[in-house]
Amino acid sequence: MRKVYCIGELLIDFIAENQGSDLSKANIYTKKAGGAPANVACAIAKLGGKSSFVGSVGEDPFGSFLLNVLDANGVDISLAQRYKTFTTMAFVSIAEDGERDFVFSRGADKELIYDPSLKKDFKESIVHLGAATALLGGALEKAYGHYFFDALTEKAFISFDPNFRGDLWKDNKDVFIKKCMPYVEKSNLCKFSLEEAQLLSGEENLDEACDVLHEIGANTITITLGNKGTLVSTRKFRETVPSIKVNPVDTTGAGDAFIGCLLQQIATSHTIDPALEDKSLLTQMVQKANKAGAITTTNFGAIESMPDKKQMYD
Ligand code: ATP
Repeated sequence: MRKVYCIGELLIDFIAENQGSDLSKANIYTKKAGGAPANVACAIAKLGGKSSFVGSVGEDPFGSFLLNVLDANGVDISLAQRYKTFTTMAFVSIAEDGERDFVFSRGADKELIYDPSLKKDFKESIVHLGAATALLGGALEKAYGHYFFDALTEKAFISFDPNFRGDLWKDNKDVFIKKCMPYVEKSNLCKFSLEEAQLLSGEENLDEACDVLHEIGANTITITLGNKGTLVSTRKFRETVPSIKVNPVDTTGAGDAFIGCLLQQIATSHTIDPALEDKSLLTQMVQKANKAGAITTTNFGAIESMPDKKQMYD
């Protein structure tokens, strides 16, 4: 079984309890582990896969809390780094008008220092790059670029999720798009939401968006569409794999559970690249990944709602 290195941010999400009022009025918050690449590492480990998180937190109680959550879920945290600054935090509420109210306090996630000794371990591995904060600058962005280059030279299987957060790129969407391009071009697998596929391709229509993304260089593309399932597109075929019917209560983390489950299956497949060329095999894998996403929506929270092996395969 191949190991999946999940590179990017790990942070605290403070979710305002009284949704429907903006952050200036909210006074009770629930503390949750957040950060898409860390969520993906948990999704993989919960399904029995081998995942390692590469990112950084502060030398504070929040950093300890986050690493404990990853460790308790079976993720290898030996490559996580800690810095004397505070752990990154995001405060989130849905205001009265339905808009997201968001305050982001960027701390230790940006401090990640590149470790050249990791390169040799990428051979025969999967490297998953989540870009939510990684492309915002800091030492993290440099380390992220180096790891991407190492993964390419070692011919690792590279998975990329842009994790676009409008709140973080308000007037700089063009910069975000430009920074994503090398990853879209060179990764073996890209996981997009509908919004990301449209943003990065500049096309509203999904078929046209896929065409443009393949022209840029994207190999296998998955576009997650909530209860409508997942559009899979390769250079040879394109198909929407329907979702599983559930009664959703909270969709947080569904996308991370989806890509985690897909990567966990690729990690156990004997023929990594050909697996993505084989229509029926890839479709089967996406069906299972859709199930993981669907199960995650049936409870509140991200990591705690992701399925384990038993829920998934019994
Ligand atoms: P995130 O906000 O976590 O990054 P995302 O937008 O990338 O998520 P979604 O499309 O919400 O991802 O969900 C990922 C997958 O989970 C979908 O492709 C689908 O298979 C499954 N899923 C999500 N919502 C539902 C739902 N309401 N019913 C059934 N399946 C769902």
